[in-house]
Amino acid sequence: MLYVSSGSKELTGYDAESLLFNRDVSYNDIIAPRYRSQLWDNWKRVIKKHQKFRDVYQIITKSGDLKWVYELGEPIYDKDGNVEALEGIVIDISAQKRLEETLQHKSDYNEWTELLNRHYLERLLTEDLKKKSLQKRALLVVNLNSVQTLTSVHGYHYSQELMKMIAEELKKIVCDRCKLFLTHENRLTFYLKNYKSKDDLLALYERIAKIIEPIIMMERISCGVGIYELPANSKPSEVDTILKNLLLASEKAYINDERSIHYVFFDVAMENEIQRERQLEKELAEISDGISEERFFLQYQPIIDLKKNKVCGFEALARLKSDVLGFVPPLAFIPVLERTKLIIPFGRMIVRKSLTFLKKIHELGFEEMSVSINISAIQLLSENFTKKFLDIVKEVGVVPEKIWVELTESVFASNYQEINSVLGRLMEQGIRVAIDDFGTGFSSLYRLLAININSIKIDKAFMDGIELINIDEAITKDIISLGQKLRYTVVAEGVETEIQKDYLMAYGCDRAQGYFFSKPLNEQDAIIFAEKFNK
Ligand code: C2E
Ligand code: MG
Ligand code: MG
Repeated sequence: MLYVSSGSKELTGYDAESLLFNRDVSYNDIIAPRYRSQLWDNWKRVIKKHQKFRDVYQIITKSGDLKWVYELGEPIYDKDGNVEALEGIVIDISAQKRLEETLQHKSDYNEWTELLNRHYLERLLTEDLKKKSLQKRALLVVNLNSVQTLTSVHGYHYSQELMKMIAEELKKIVCDRCKLFLTHENRLTFYLKNYKSKDDLLALYERIAKIIEPIIMMERISCGVGIYELPANSKPSEVDTILKNLLLASEKAYINDERSIHYVFFDVAMENEIQRERQLEKELAEISDGISEERFFLQYQPIIDLKKNKVCGFEALARLKSDVLGFVPPLAFIPVLERTKLIIPFGRMIVRKSLTFLKKIHELGFEEMSVSINISAIQLLSENFTKKFLDIVKEVGVVPEKIWVELTESVFASNYQEINSVLGRLMEQGIRVAIDDFGTGFSSLYRLLAININSIKIDKAFMDGIELINIDEAITKDIISLGQKLRYTVVAEGVETEIQKDYLMAYGCDRAQGYFFSKPLNEQDAIIFAEKFNK
């Protein structure tokens, strides 16, 4: 060391003299050992390429403290181009480093639980998945989304305190191989490494359940736990998908059970189900854009007037023939349409097709016949539903009195008032309203009196009842008589046998629909059926 400035004392704690000619200590000894070879390699590269030197490292001061420094330097060459000396200045950047660390900490930590957050977990997983390792890795998320309902009742502060308390309890489980993160304000995620088998994961779940169960019972909220064992060949680029799958598993586990906690493992079946849903979404979006529309069509199931023994109408039932999945039942694709809100354009298409069919049968001379259209709650509550519906009625040119809309009972569980007023407006125009699947959902008889409807469709489950129980005991007859007391047209669904038909006739049911008469048919076959049956 040929020259040392007086600033050395402040930076290193050593006088310039102690360092000069390495009298008491060499500068290399002050450099924290883990940086020494890196720095030396850097100098060698700089010398070779005739560049300037820059590096950030730590030194150990005389009093034993670590300091972050930034070194700027360059080699001095003699006339022949040989290195004569190395020259540089070393600046204390500890304060900047501290700030950087605080910022990093702030962006990685959640303040109120003092847990690492999702960003950190994502980075950690990405780094871990870069390393080839035979260690087993799994994620377990405790999904407490229903805490949100508490927020709306007791305020944000209350739910935050609750989450904080839960986090404190769950922290007790944390160990070297099992870390805890707050990945969303109402979700806590464990990252487990180097475990032996599924049993270890279940044991972890049990410990969590023991902590959470009393809390959710008291607060009347529900909790779902999703568990995802990372496949050995997971790639760093898949972190996003991994976390999404984990969340999905927890949502599956999230049954509205206010008193206990459930878990679901993400597995191949779920993966397939997700792929199926994605395919469905894709095809439905295409159809909505007018691409290969023929994949989506309606079938019509005849409805029989039991007193006249004549076809008196049809129920329009949506059908989807997917390119990849083949025939998909409406109970599988209607929820997808509802979730993606595509039910609005599809609903309009269903109404237009059904009414066009109605127009056609009327023109064929079946003026008495009606068409029944299934409507989802989302459709019914969409903006200007009544007006848009009536616009199509006018455009196609059919009488409203021959149009029936069907709604399931569950629809009335929420937004009761709003739905009821839409139904009232439809009925003012002459359109008929039926409650579908009657008897399966929530049915307060008291409320039934206040609902704007003309008809009930008794669910298939009650037809099965006729066959199973001693005929006199089946409650189906009570439902029929109840409906009739309220002056509703009573329709029986899912009639499959003669015994059922005879029973319905004996108790004065108005109409029936089911495989005993006919399956849902394509437009042309439906017309042929009506012609034959009503001859
Ligand atoms: P839903 O409105 O209660 O329709 C009756 C269902 O029972 C139909 O099933 C029909 O094919 C079936 N079915 C009729 N007779 C029998 C029988 O004798 N035995 C048996 N086992 N089943 C019978 P599908 O077509 O699978 O429709 C299922 C549900 O999907 C419908 O129940 C309805 O809630 C919904 N859905 C169908 N089309 C539409 C639509 O255009 N819009 C909306 N929002 N929902 C629809
Ligand atoms: Mg129906
Ligand atoms: Mg039904």
